[in-house]
Order: sequence, then C-alpha cells, then structure tokens
Amino acid sequence: MKMVVRISSAVHNPVLAKVILSTGVAINVDRADLDATSGEIVLEVPADSCARVARAFEREGASVSVLEHPIIRDDDECVHCGACIGICPVSVFSYEPDWSVAMDESKCIQCGTCITACPHGALRIESE
Ligand code: SF4
Ligand code: SF4
Repeated sequence: MKMVVRISSAVHNPVLAKVILSTGVAINVDRADLDATSGEIVLEVPADSCARVARAFEREGASVSVLEHPIIRDDDECVHCGACIGICPVSVFSYEPDWSVAMDESKCIQCGTCITACPHGALRIESE
C-alpha cells in the first residue's frame, strides 16, 4: 500500500530509520523529495502493517496519508491517446490488445509527470 509521509523535523532526526527499526517492517522508498529540514517521501508498505507504520511516523512528528488511489483518471475525459504511457517512469500505463489504455495505479509514485502530459486533463493525483 502506498503512503505519503511529510517530515518537517530537525536535521539530525533519522525518522525513516527509526520507524523501520521500531516496527520491523520492510518499507520500500518509492520516491523521496527531502532537504536538510523537511520533505516528502512516498513509501510502499505491506497492507497489514500500514496502521502500525503510520502510528510510528506520527509519534516522530510526521504527517501521514495512506493512498488508496495514488493516481486518478477521469474515464469520461480519457481518449486513450497513449501520451501517458511512455512518460511514466514506473509503467503505470499500458496498451490493452484493443489499444485502449489500461492503468495499474498501485505502481504510481506520484511524480506528477503524466498530469501535465495528458492533453485532456484526465489525470490527477490523490491528495489527503
Ligand atoms: S494521456 Fe490522458 S487522454 Fe491520453 S491515454 Fe493517458 S489519460 Fe488518457
Ligand atoms: S504520477 Fe503519473 S507519471 Fe508519475 S508515477 Fe504516477 S502515473 Fe506515473
């Protein structure tokens, strides 16, 4: 399950390492946008550990959003042009045998690239 964690803590507080050690959960970092004092990370966390990991981050002062649908497509707007297929870095989009565009939202790391590339404004990122 995807989770966005926003950190605005002191420089020397290794929040992610502390959460991994305290929960023992194998957390995969999909995307990280961090500087010395704050930032946002997108994580892949086993579904049965999500609540425990979220609580551990919150104890460290981070805010957490669990993403049910990281990327959302308005199927009334999508014309299956395929512009989103090549630009997605994690291959969320693909052609079906009938040339319609399928998507596997579970892969999305919320980089935002497809939002501006879609000529019909059919895509948006889930926010909390
Ligand atoms: S770029 Fe937009 S309109 Fe084209 S296939 Fe992707 S979501 Fe649909
Ligand atoms: S935001 Fe769009 S381009 Fe980026 S990973 Fe998600 S689906 Fe792919």
